[in-house]
Amino acid sequence: KTVKVCCGTGCLANGSNQVLGALRKEIEAQRLDIEVVPYVKATGCNGLCERGPIVKIEPDDIAYYHVKPEDVVEIVEKTVIKGEEIPRLLYLDVVSKQRIRSHKDSDFIKKQTKIALRNIGEIDPSQIQDYVDAGGYAALRKAVFELSPEDIISEMKASGLRGRGGGGFPTGIKWETCYKIKREPKYIICNGDEGDPGAFMDRSVMEGDPHTVLEGMIIAAVALGVHHGYIYIRDEYGLALENMHKAIEQAKEHHFLGDNILGSEHSFDLEIVRGGGAFVCGESSALMASIEGRVGEPRAKYIRSAEYGLWGQPTVLNNVETWSNIPVIIQNGSSWFNEIGSPQNAGTKVFSLVGKVKNTGLVEVPMGITLEELIFGIGGGITGDKEFKAVQTGGPSGGCIPKELLHLAVDFDTLEAAGSMMGSGGMIVTDERTCMVEFARYYVSFLAEESCGKCVSCREGIRQMLKILTDICEGKGQLQDLDLLTEIAHTVEQASLCGLGKTAPNPVMSTLKYFKDEYLEHITEGR
Ligand code: SF4
Repeated sequence: KTVKVCCGTGCLANGSNQVLGALRKEIEAQRLDIEVVPYVKATGCNGLCERGPIVKIEPDDIAYYHVKPEDVVEIVEKTVIKGEEIPRLLYLDVVSKQRIRSHKDSDFIKKQTKIALRNIGEIDPSQIQDYVDAGGYAALRKAVFELSPEDIISEMKASGLRGRGGGGFPTGIKWETCYKIKREPKYIICNGDEGDPGAFMDRSVMEGDPHTVLEGMIIAAVALGVHHGYIYIRDEYGLALENMHKAIEQAKEHHFLGDNILGSEHSFDLEIVRGGGAFVCGESSALMASIEGRVGEPRAKYIRSAEYGLWGQPTVLNNVETWSNIPVIIQNGSSWFNEIGSPQNAGTKVFSLVGKVKNTGLVEVPMGITLEELIFGIGGGITGDKEFKAVQTGGPSGGCIPKELLHLAVDFDTLEAAGSMMGSGGMIVTDERTCMVEFARYYVSFLAEESCGKCVSCREGIRQMLKILTDICEGKGQLQDLDLLTEIAHTVEQASLCGLGKTAPNPVMSTLKYFKDEYLEHITEGR
């Protein structure tokens, strides 16, 4: 038997550490004939963050939610020892209002497909053996002993995996470009600088399954002949930093990392760099500048990182979620991966589903699922049974998608065509109570703070948009402000250097497109 206590940041904030301690103490007090620590595991995020702390008892397949330390004696006596359920702690389905015994049977979980999140919530991220027992590092063995670099690259190309950091660039092509360049040294980077408000996908992967990120990177290093890599992690992510550091040490001890990987001639070392908190450092060239010790400012996009990346050398940069897909693709094969998702959008995508939705948390769905299935099927609908209004996808640089477009498929191309973007996976749901002008103003104020200031169009244009939006929100707007807003938005989009500036007008333009009546109401009613 195993008792798994969710110790992702969301559950920790709700007191799961106290529950974990109480469970270990109680099991010891009951003098059960077991070794307590491996028996009671601290796992990563189970996804349903707002229902934490979550405790799962296996193999009885019983999951409890909102567990408090005072529930622990009853859990041990009834469930751990006798295998009986405690109904009040079971999952309460928001639609059927039924209590559900197994975590896996909840609508929230059963409608998901987990690849990047496959181990999270199941393994103890601080124990490499847990990862290995779940099949971890088998793909690395395959990459080292059975596949040539060309085989690995063609598997990646055939898989159709597109970068999950937001750009959606085909990962295999990026790897191939870097592979073909003969300049040394080459570098590999993991972007863990997740800065979007409401996004916690990468944080949860680094906290809950750090070895999958390492394994993906080591496979790329083996294929591309790279000897040094960096993991750039947002400094606020304390637990992610701790678990990634621990994982690197363990991987070295087990010869998955360092010199002579698994006894082969391959060598690869990894270093963690702590991000200083600038949102713009999530942009690849700014991130590399920051690793080099320079000011984190983006550079022109025509210079490709695969050719001239870190210190001007060929570099492959992917984000946390992309790296975590690699071991599974190598292990199961590209055709397996390709069958999941939709044409041109293979595989799954992880989202942090937050805002006015009943089941907030971390979800992983096949590409091509509709927004409706995601928000109403998995998310359980809107809190307080209010009317859905819009969903913001793609973080602050994304756009709002209204009710009429709930049938849209969630993939890179469809969301972009609708005036939004996939981004790295933040998804914020609004309802009838949300003022969409205020909503756009919030994102524009975030971007005004985070613009690095290199381009006039971005630095000044976003500030001007913010001023106009603030005036409108305060009832001081004029009708001609809407034309001015559109004109500035167009200039910011056209004249800015990097993605932050180029996409900054999205929240304004999408709300103007779908919710112009709300702008007009503010202006005509002077409120
Ligand atoms: Fe900096 Fe904005 Fe220019 Fe990007 S677009 S480089 S964030 S000023």
